[in-house]
Amino acid sequence: MKNYIDGEWAGSSSGAVLEKMNPSTGELLEKFPAATRDDVARAIDAAESAFESWYSLGSKERSRIILRARDIISGKREELEKLLIAENGKVPVQAGEEVDGVIDQLSYYAGFERKITGEIAEGDTSTRKILQYRVPYGVVAALTPWNFPAAMVARKLAPALLTGNTVVLKPSSDTPLSSEWIVRKFIEAGIPKGVLNLVTGKGSEIGDFLVSHSKVSLVTMTGSTETGQRIMQKASANMARLILELGGKAPFIVWKDADIKNALKSLIWAKFWNSGQSCIAAERLYVHEDIYRTFMEKFVAATKKLRIGDPQHSDVGPLINMKALETTEQFVKDAAGSGQKILTGGNKPKLEGKFSGGYFYLPTVIDDADQKSGIFQEEIFGPVIGAQSVSSFDDVILKSNDSRYGLASYLFTKDQKTAFEAAERMRFGELYINMPGPESSQGYHTGFRLTGQGGEGSRNGIEEYVKLKNVYVDYSGKELHLGSVREDLF
Ligand code: NAP
Repeated sequence: MKNYIDGEWAGSSSGAVLEKMNPSTGELLEKFPAATRDDVARAIDAAESAFESWYSLGSKERSRIILRARDIISGKREELEKLLIAENGKVPVQAGEEVDGVIDQLSYYAGFERKITGEIAEGDTSTRKILQYRVPYGVVAALTPWNFPAAMVARKLAPALLTGNTVVLKPSSDTPLSSEWIVRKFIEAGIPKGVLNLVTGKGSEIGDFLVSHSKVSLVTMTGSTETGQRIMQKASANMARLILELGGKAPFIVWKDADIKNALKSLIWAKFWNSGQSCIAAERLYVHEDIYRTFMEKFVAATKKLRIGDPQHSDVGPLINMKALETTEQFVKDAAGSGQKILTGGNKPKLEGKFSGGYFYLPTVIDDADQKSGIFQEEIFGPVIGAQSVSSFDDVILKSNDSRYGLASYLFTKDQKTAFEAAERMRFGELYINMPGPESSQGYHTGFRLTGQGGEGSRNGIEEYVKLKNVYVDYSGKELHLGSVREDLF
């Protein structure tokens, strides 16, 4: 694969490459360029040069290009699904869902053509007006994570491009391939040169340079809180606007009056979807004491039936890389070491043949997890969940909010009062009541605390990509009389 800069495909100017492994087998999948700062600077320059003509094209034409890209992607969707299975280890049904998400986001954002409007404010006299335009920022640096390598790219490209910004895309080094595939589809759709640029390489090597560059006016990043905090510091050099979608530690509450079957189905989804590697993954299970044991028995029984291994024939795929596998193992070791009981899992599965080299970890459930332990406080990002029995509603609200993250949360109850009280008191960007996620394009995906700032989706999300510009005008044609400028000067 190659970088795409100013309308040209090329390797790194240093010739250096990085390796992408297949997480299901641990074998080499592809090599990709390790871009240099020079490459990044050329991509930014190209985006800056292309900005004015892209913006002046108008949103109707920009939308057409996005929709053409969507149609091309839709027509070749099996190719993208295969890439997602290979580079991320997704199971086919989930790879398909991600491609649906890509198509939906491109459609949704393209639908805002001619709908980003400004305002006219009254001036201080009747012949004066203040025209407030909503205008794009200019060059956007888009940094994406590996867990939804295609959907996160679509969710950044579509609003940035529709509103007239130009883009330098830097995908995760764990999943560069689907980004290249998507960029190729935009080229086929007629995106002008320089408007969309792709650079691959380690964030730790080129990230600081990209986000602090004087020509980058907006940085949109989905990833870890630690990286988000670093970006905030570095981007301050240029006062770049930030959209940061960071970590999560979702509580999943099952109240005593819950529909148990729906709660179980949703929990299996919320915990094991994408092998637990989702920012909205259920990471803390709170179950009312009256139903705790029965619920846990059913949950563990269902978890044990999940198939793991070859993504083509499994419910749960591998973790993204060896480091993620080791981190997950460590969380469980620490929990076991501190006396927390493992009800199922707690190990790597024994797999045959080429999958024995993959980064798999068994779906794991931990009983009576401690609120202060890593299992309940740190983002695990793997197929592991701790559970706790709770008795009072005040207590569960307090415990749920006791997290440095505040993205998603879940509640299962049939009681209206419980539901609406939770809606008031849960301090999370998203609360799913009696339903699983994921978020919709028309919802605003955002979080409290260390989950970041800004958000994506809905009109609010697209307006993150435009800023207000004020034009003051006096149309009277009359001579100006200014109190602080003497008339006898003229
Ligand atoms: P990450 O390590 O923070 O990486 C995210 C992106 O930032 C990657 O493209 C990475 O490049 C880049 N990066 C790394 N260091 C950088 C630097 N110094 N400057 C600029 N960019 C840099 O996160 P991840 O492991 O890919 O993703 C997992 C995290 O994403 C989890 O915490 C998860 O909760 C979060 N997430 C949040 C949402 C949400 O909507 N809130 C959605 C999905 C995921 P390299 O890959 O080259 O290092």
